[in-house]
Amino acid sequence: MTELFPVPAEFAKQALIDEKTYQEWYARSVNDPDGFWGEHGKRLDWIKPYTKVKEVSYTGDVSINWFADGTLNVAANCLDRHLAKRGDQTAIIWEGDDPNDSKHVTYRELHEQVCRLSNVMTDLGVKKGDRVTIYLPMIVEAAVAMLACARVGAIHSIVFGGFSPDALAGRIQDCDSSLVITADEGLRGGRKVPLKANVDKALETCWSVKNVLVVKRTGGNIHMVTGRDHWYEELTAKAGATHTAVEMNAEDPLFILYTSGSTGKPKGVLHTTGGYLCYASMTHQYVFDYHEGDVYWCTADVGWVTGHSYIVYGPLANGAITLMFEGIPTYPDASRFWQVVDKHKVNIFYTAPTAIRSLMREGEEMVKKTSRSSLRLLGSVGEPINPEAWLWYHRVVGDNRCPIVDTWWQTETGGILITPLPGATALKPGSATRPFFGVKPVMVDAEGKVLEGAVEGNLCLAEPGWPGQMRTIFGDHKRFGETYFSTYPGYYFTGDGARRDEDGYYWITGRVDDVINVSGHRMGTAEVESALVAHPKVAEAAVVGYPHEIKGQGIYAYVTLIQGEEPTEELRKELVAWVRKEIGPIASPDLIQWSPGLPKTRSGKIMRRILRKIAENEFGALGDTSTLADPTVVEDLIENRMNRG
Ligand code: ATP
Ligand code: MG
Repeated sequence: MTELFPVPAEFAKQALIDEKTYQEWYARSVNDPDGFWGEHGKRLDWIKPYTKVKEVSYTGDVSINWFADGTLNVAANCLDRHLAKRGDQTAIIWEGDDPNDSKHVTYRELHEQVCRLSNVMTDLGVKKGDRVTIYLPMIVEAAVAMLACARVGAIHSIVFGGFSPDALAGRIQDCDSSLVITADEGLRGGRKVPLKANVDKALETCWSVKNVLVVKRTGGNIHMVTGRDHWYEELTAKAGATHTAVEMNAEDPLFILYTSGSTGKPKGVLHTTGGYLCYASMTHQYVFDYHEGDVYWCTADVGWVTGHSYIVYGPLANGAITLMFEGIPTYPDASRFWQVVDKHKVNIFYTAPTAIRSLMREGEEMVKKTSRSSLRLLGSVGEPINPEAWLWYHRVVGDNRCPIVDTWWQTETGGILITPLPGATALKPGSATRPFFGVKPVMVDAEGKVLEGAVEGNLCLAEPGWPGQMRTIFGDHKRFGETYFSTYPGYYFTGDGARRDEDGYYWITGRVDDVINVSGHRMGTAEVESALVAHPKVAEAAVVGYPHEIKGQGIYAYVTLIQGEEPTEELRKELVAWVRKEIGPIASPDLIQWSPGLPKTRSGKIMRRILRKIAENEFGALGDTSTLADPTVVEDLIENRMNRG
């Protein structure tokens, strides 16, 4: 029986959405979407108000339009409209890699910086609809660059600063960017990242780029190409401090973002202006129960969709105080997150399971020695959070006081889709719980038959959808239809599997491609992994299927032990028995490989497709590995696999 965590009384008192409101709003959002979104679309400032709300078709030549005849500007919504009321309030708290380095930027200051850069971009010939690639560290200029693109109507494509020159080049070529905005070097965990040198290398194969703007971050020695490369500071200092935002149609593109590549070649996901911003700001307000003046911190990088929607666009559209962190959770030591929480009195904290699991390994003391008394709410995103990690996050980080919002969503969805609302939802560790307003989850079996009640199946989403949904794959609308709408006609297919329980709560079981079929029993990887992680000696686990003569598929588990634990034959047996007891004999691992490291994407997600290939002894067919954080991990795993024969 799963433990239930009701809404704490203290939290309920101030919450924006209680259970009754959730039920009422949800019912209206799916029964009368035009009425519901027609009203909530007004949370934005429109230049020309919309008269149409939803025009969506998931069949035929899939087309998705929201607020289609309205016009607005995203940067004006994130900045200009706040100036009268909160011009001198902090918009961004920036915390540098070095703990002694931080600053506050007000809405007025941010507005001015964005106007200056908008003028620079216009002078460099950037026009509405042009693509701009942003390859920056987590510095304020990253947010400025995004907002300046939005202001002039250019489409930004952010490439995470940890990506290689090749990965960067591929993403520049895919969308033909004419401008790249980068920095001399980045700074992460005390180490320098050669951003400009990477750009130089990438541009050897990119002919579309005419100009490169370079922010001075470290002052490191870099090469500037005359005529092509310009110092950001020099041009913005000379540029005008005011700029009139370009009037954009609600369906004009806002950005392209490539998915993390967990399952294969990244897709250039395209989001547009009005619907995206409405959904990002609404989810930010209600999922995080954001109140005026709260200090909110999302630890993602702006290179991921989480950084787009929940560091920059959602919070700034809401006039929030958003914290941007340049560094990493373990520098100078594993207590850094909580020191930053205390330093800036953070109220709302949003991070990823991979960070939680890695900090769990370091022990409670690193957390407990800080106060964290400002924290009111915690959040998780990116992967299923194992109940073990959830309980640790709740007890150790949140002192049993803070609700946790486990938010399920995707680059493609633009914003959070399945999540608790902290003032309304009783929590179950490991469950993303219930759909947000407008979201209609549907469970289907392999043949596409819709399943009712408490079941496990493939997670799809039904029309009309929600305004923040992606509109197409940049330059390839056919692939868009094929990838998301052809597997189960009439539905958007998420690629994820889920279980719906008797209370209507959703449990994401992992990617459907990762489902294991043992002697006819289908099993999500998340469940077996969570059982392993629940063992006191296990820090992390990844489970995949491999061909098995009798069972069809066997269970192959890669296990990382907590620091100081030795891998022994005895422990191996103990773990097999443990999973057998936790889930049942059907789930007991057939093979356990000790793995000091697991292959992860740069956003920290385990790449099971690579582990599957290794388990299958197919080392030659690892597929696209360009988004891998540390390729040497794979070599080590292969070597161990071979040693075992
Ligand atoms: P690609 O689509 O290129 O393979 P990706 O799916 O990892 O990469 P993202 O859009 O960054 O790219 O991640 C979305 C996926 O992350 C979801 O489909 C889901 O598998 C997983 N995910 C995100 N949040 C959660 C969550 N709270 N619980 C479970 N899974 C989650
Ligand atoms: Mg995906």
